[in-house]
Amino acid sequence: MRQQRTIAEKVSCTGLGLHCGMPVELTLRPARANTGVVFVRRFAGERVEIRARARAVCSTSHATTLSSGRVRVSTVEHLLAALHSLQIDNVRAELDGPEVPVMEGSALSFVRLLNAAGIYRQNAPGASIRIVRPVEVSDGDRLISIEPGHGFQISYAVEFAHPAIGRQEFEVPRLTSEVFAREIAPARTFGFLEEVHELWRTGLARGGSLENTVVLDDRRVLNPEGLLWPDEFVRHKILDLIGDLSLLGLPIQGHVRVERGGHSLHHRLARAVIESPEAWRIIGGVDGLVTSRLARHTSRSVGETSDEVRAQNS
Ligand code: UDP
Ligand code: ZN
Repeated sequence: MRQQRTIAEKVSCTGLGLHCGMPVELTLRPARANTGVVFVRRFAGERVEIRARARAVCSTSHATTLSSGRVRVSTVEHLLAALHSLQIDNVRAELDGPEVPVMEGSALSFVRLLNAAGIYRQNAPGASIRIVRPVEVSDGDRLISIEPGHGFQISYAVEFAHPAIGRQEFEVPRLTSEVFAREIAPARTFGFLEEVHELWRTGLARGGSLENTVVLDDRRVLNPEGLLWPDEFVRHKILDLIGDLSLLGLPIQGHVRVERGGHSLHHRLARAVIESPEAWRIIGGVDGLVTSRLARHTSRSVGETSDEVRAQNS
């Protein structure tokens, strides 16, 4: 039986917000079992809490943004991917600005920060969401699906009409913290030079630079250090996918396939899963409390979910 996990001690880092361009301090604190991931934004003298779950998503344009009332937290996906992949269920993420710092444009800093904090196993069973029937969302030539599988398996393809990208496919046969740290976490955000002025005009990418983004002109990568891997682009899309799907609130047992994905497609899959209760079961975690995080997304009551959990475990 999986145990829930939090971090062993408080840790902090400071960096620029990719879109707002301002320095932001992020502090991660241990949280009780069954808390989930909660962003805490110090805002106008108040502390506003925003739960990291699919229904809090208010924008998927160029980053994933969560909100509660007027308060927003942007670019949550790389931190969420690190938490999910290191199987950290419960944490409070305090921010003194509107965005999670972009650091080096990947999840590497967050993996290091979480490893420095250490992991604390909590005396509470952890639930997972097991996909039992396929769910699929398509949009022209773009497609995303999830089907039953062992562990969290990802097959991702991107295709850009750009000589430095082209078609790239990458397979994660089973996501573990080691595979994530080695193959996915270091892959950086990328962007096209020709889009920069339009992004600036709309108030985005103000903190973007060659320090935190792989920038492409119409022929090549402009960063002097080049790429970490030729397929760094598809690896970064997988990083975004893991963070976006973590908003289901539980570890995932299923095989995700993506063709030409992006944040909005990832979220459409998360919503489709939530709206298809026949396509999944919650396993592990023996009481209603543990399963309530996902149940709150759906019309199912906690009691019904608990009955299912009992049926699974009997
Ligand atoms: N795109 C593409 N090939 C891909 C994925 C995306 O050409 O494999 C294009 C897509 O058509 C859009 C742009 O990249 O014009 C940004 O895609 P999206 O908004 O989905 O990405 P996000 O920034 O949300 O991750
Ligand atoms: Zn990203």
